[in-house]
Amino acid sequence: MKKVIVIGGGFAGLSAASFLADSGSKVELIEVSPKLGGRAYSFYDDETGSVIDNGQHILMGCYKETLKFLKLIGAEKNFSYQERLKVDFLNDNGKHFRLEATQPFYPLNHLFGLLNFEALSFSDRLKILKFFVKLYFYSDEELKKLTVHQWFLLEGQNEKIREAFWDFLAVGALNTSTTKASAKAFADIIKEIFSKGNKASTIILPLKGLTESYCNEAQSFIEKKGGIINLSEQVTGFEIENNEVKKIITSKRTIADFNYVISSVPWFAIKTFEVSVGQTVGEPRRFLPDVNLNFEHSSILTIHIWIKENKLQEDFYALIGSPLNWIFNHKDHITLVKSDANDIIDKSKEELFEMAVAELKKYAGIEKEEIKSYKVIKEKRATFVPNNETIDKRPNTKTKIKNLFLAGDWVNTGLPSTIEGAVKSGRSAMEEIERLPVST
Ligand SMILES: Cc1cc2nc3c(=O)[nH]c(=O)nc-3n(C[C@H](O)[C@H](O)[C@H](O)COP(=O)(O)OP(=O)(O)OC[C@H]3O[C@@H](n4cnc5c(N)ncnc54)[C@H](O)[C@@H]3O)c2cc1C
Repeated sequence: MKKVIVIGGGFAGLSAASFLADSGSKVELIEVSPKLGGRAYSFYDDETGSVIDNGQHILMGCYKETLKFLKLIGAEKNFSYQERLKVDFLNDNGKHFRLEATQPFYPLNHLFGLLNFEALSFSDRLKILKFFVKLYFYSDEELKKLTVHQWFLLEGQNEKIREAFWDFLAVGALNTSTTKASAKAFADIIKEIFSKGNKASTIILPLKGLTESYCNEAQSFIEKKGGIINLSEQVTGFEIENNEVKKIITSKRTIADFNYVISSVPWFAIKTFEVSVGQTVGEPRRFLPDVNLNFEHSSILTIHIWIKENKLQEDFYALIGSPLNWIFNHKDHITLVKSDANDIIDKSKEELFEMAVAELKKYAGIEKEEIKSYKVIKEKRATFVPNNETIDKRPNTKTKIKNLFLAGDWVNTGLPSTIEGAVKSGRSAMEEIERLPVST
């Protein structure tokens, strides 16, 4: 039986550990935090008595690997699934618009949905359609020379179209300003969403807090299969001999009885590992010289708000032209989300709350007096920035160290920094190890 140490208990580590445990490996997962979930978790808020997420997470029908993982651990039931794409929009007068794939036949249902989207003039809707058609005429090399914004300008996507349509898709998927994000990264993701069948574009939301939705299920699955999960234990380094990790050093012990190691920690955490190769001690740079660890990061701001009487009807709304992008309706509270939030993330919580108050009044007619409580969560290193400089510099799963594999949303999956990227990387690491014998 292969023994695999998985470092990190986010989506990447949990999925790698679950897939490996399912296929018969002995898995031990080591997580520095006292909880699982990494950048996607929930917690009980004493003040309000609610379970809240560190940030709203949206899954999509095109998240194939994530859906397989959720099914494997028995967590599918903890999510709600749309039949067809439906997104509700509000403008700053509180006017409601809907983008909905109404017709049954894919892809015509998307076409009709777009042509019925009244937030934009008919001619602007046709311009979007033209963009989708022309998408397939661009080569990867052409797109790698453009930012998303430059691409929009080249294709006549005016400010209104960008504000009421593209920005939700581009900034939502890439968590990066369109002036920085790579057009290639955006093209790849819209192809995934819109050209892989009717379900691919649908939105999937957790029905409970994230921890209850998948972390707890993953933990029991791994443990039932004989795996071990260690929390509050930090991996601090490796000892490498003959191009193999021989020992893993943690805050509590030294581990030597394993065959393979998967590091699923983010790019900013792997930098802190201390590695000794023979007598030489140093940074990972020394043992992974070809691995780029210098990614720019992008923030996400989340403001949870409890109101006296929640009159919002829909599960979520996109806010056209607002500095805050979305409202999610959790019934007992609502959640405002700002992606690509680097420019406002350092404002004080009070200032950010006042901004939310102003937007809620304009968009949803909610007055400040109706607000009972609020909680601001800043995730500064939510995702990496998929720009044209780094897009080809993401590391592969396999490293030069024979028994060390990398996972995490930042490795080279072809996807942006998302749950699906993380799970896909976890699966690739598992597949690499599956191909190898028990001993390296
Ligand atoms: C607020 C917010 C909203 C988001 N919204 C969405 C969304 O709607 N849809 C979407 O698809 N994606 C979204 N994302 C991105 C998504 O959360 C991430 O892409 C994904 O969770 C990354 O998973 P991961 O396992 O690669 O990394 P992580 O979740 O960062 O997991 C890495 C784990 O490694 C642990 N670790 C680090 N160092 C050590 C060490 N030395 N020893 C042991 N353990 C260590 C960490 O504690 C962590 O638990 C969002 C992210 C944030 C922050």
